[in-house]
Formats: sequence, C-alpha cells, structure tokens
Amino acid sequence: MKNITNIQKFSVHDGDGIRTSVFFKGCPLKCAWCHNPETQRYGREMQYDSEKCTGCGACVKVCPSQALVMKDGKPVLNREVCTLCGRCENYCPAGIREVVGREYTVKELVKELMKDQIFYEDSGGGVTFSGGEVMTMDLEYLLAVAKELRRQDVTLTIDTCGYVPYERFKAILPYVDTFLYDVKVMDSKLHNQYMGVDNKLILENLIRLAGDGARIYIRIPVIKEVNGNEKNMKETIAFLKEHDIHPPQINLLPYHDTGSGKYPKLDMEYKGTDLHAPERAEMEEFVRLFQEAGFQNTKIGG
Ligand code: SF4
Ligand code: SF4
Repeated sequence: MKNITNIQKFSVHDGDGIRTSVFFKGCPLKCAWCHNPETQRYGREMQYDSEKCTGCGACVKVCPSQALVMKDGKPVLNREVCTLCGRCENYCPAGIREVVGREYTVKELVKELMKDQIFYEDSGGGVTFSGGEVMTMDLEYLLAVAKELRRQDVTLTIDTCGYVPYERFKAILPYVDTFLYDVKVMDSKLHNQYMGVDNKLILENLIRLAGDGARIYIRIPVIKEVNGNEKNMKETIAFLKEHDIHPPQINLLPYHDTGSGKYPKLDMEYKGTDLHAPERAEMEEFVRLFQEAGFQNTKIGG
C-alpha cells in the first residue's frame, strides 16, 4: 500500500524548518482523537460533505454502479458497491465529493517534493512522511523515495506511531534524519483502550531505534482523560531515563478536536467527544517535570 491523501506544503509543525509533508493512507492504530480519519483505513475511499450538499441528485444520476440513492433529499453511498470511479466527483456542481487517496510513482512523488527545494534550503527544512502510519507502507517504495531525497540533499523526517516490525525501521534508518516518535500513554491497558493496541512493541522499537543511533523527537499528544496527568508524565520520564534515551526535543501537544468534522464525510464516528486538553497551567507543569529531569528542550506544541 502507498496511497497518499495529501501533500501539504509549507508545514512548520512536522519537524525542523519549512517542510513538505506527505500523508500516507492507512494506520494500524485507531486513536480516539485522530485528526486525520481519512488516513486511518488502507485503500482509496469516497468522502462527501453532506452539510454542503444541495440535494441536486446529479451524483446519483451519473453513477454507473448504482452505488448512490437519494434518501431524505441527500445521496447515500453504498461503499461496498462503489468502484471509486470518480465520476460523481466530476459531476457534483458543489464540488463536495472526493475520492481520497492517490498513488504516485517514485518519480512523480520526488518531482513534486523537489518543487520546494528552495524553501528547504533557506529554512533548514525538508520532507516529512506522515499519515496514517507511513512505516506500514510498501517498504521498497519508501526506500526508493528516501534514497532519492538523500541523493538530492533533502532531509527526511518520519512521523511514526512506532507500531511496526523493527526490521522496517532498521532498513530506512540510514536515510532518515529525524523521527517524530509518538509516545502516547505508558499504561498499556489505557493504550489498548484508546489506540486499539497495547504499547509493548512501540516502546520496544523506541528503545532499539535510540540504541541504533536514530535522532528522535518524542511527541506526546496530551489528553486530560488519557495521559494528561503527573503520573503518566513521570512514568514517561522514568522510561526515557531507564533506557538512556536522550531526545533532542520533546513536544507536548495539547488535545484539539479540529479533525472531528471530517468523520461524517467518511461515515465514521468520532470517538473523542468526551476528551479535553489539560489547562495551560497543567501543560506548563508537565513541561517543568521534563525539564527538571534533564530534558531541557521540552515544549508545548509542535
Ligand atoms: S465514485 Fe463512481 S461508483 Fe462510486 S459513487 Fe461515485 S460514481 Fe458511483
Ligand atoms: S451532486 Fe453533489 S450537491 Fe448534488 S446531490 Fe450529489 S453530492 Fe449533493
């Protein structure tokens, strides 16, 4: 799999400098607060914004597969029948239907990424692979793009949840400048509850990656009901110290629900409605805990 949902230019929150971020489609985790639900499922899919739909019915008429029927003045999609031909997307006068996910060849992707080379050079930026979980994509493909970027002196950052066989990290490590590594919650049961998998493999991979000399920024999405407490932060600090992991940067990212509006477009349910960001003072206290433990470059935000 190597579908891409978006290539975002001028990104300043996905690593150093100005970056172009590539969002890959498909992830083994199901985080309750995921901001990018369009990257959760593998494979292409149709999304449509029913709020902006005028109910004109053009999409129903042009669909060659009878995948759409009008119900209460709005089109309803049978995803099992839809072939993702894209015809309804082209005919929708409101422009609110879209097949999400597109494959790029290595050459096409590198060409697109190199358009921003001047910004990388001027800002100390580069390319970030994000998602979804990029490390679950076609490894041969990832390596080919990574090698080409390295050949052209463009730095590569990989934003990862860490939940993949370690051999994949080992293979791409020589071509990666920085990993943005998510450490969500130290309690394995809570991890399972909110992410759908436990954290054993993720923590093991982090230890191995650090041991193999990778440059790693730790990213912690902070959610009051899940990990936004002193206990979890102290356990995270203890883990880093115990395993001699010295990230040059730690980012504490307060919860926000800006992705929640995307869920209905994909017939998905947002499971983060009862979640909240900690108060600013609590976030500052968490930063203080990390800094006192020797992790000076800990900050709020990306
Ligand atoms: S993408 Fe094609 S098959 Fe799917 S709903 Fe649109 S027109 Fe029908
Ligand atoms: S063509 Fe667009 S605006 Fe018209 S019914 Fe379909 S989705 Fe709604």
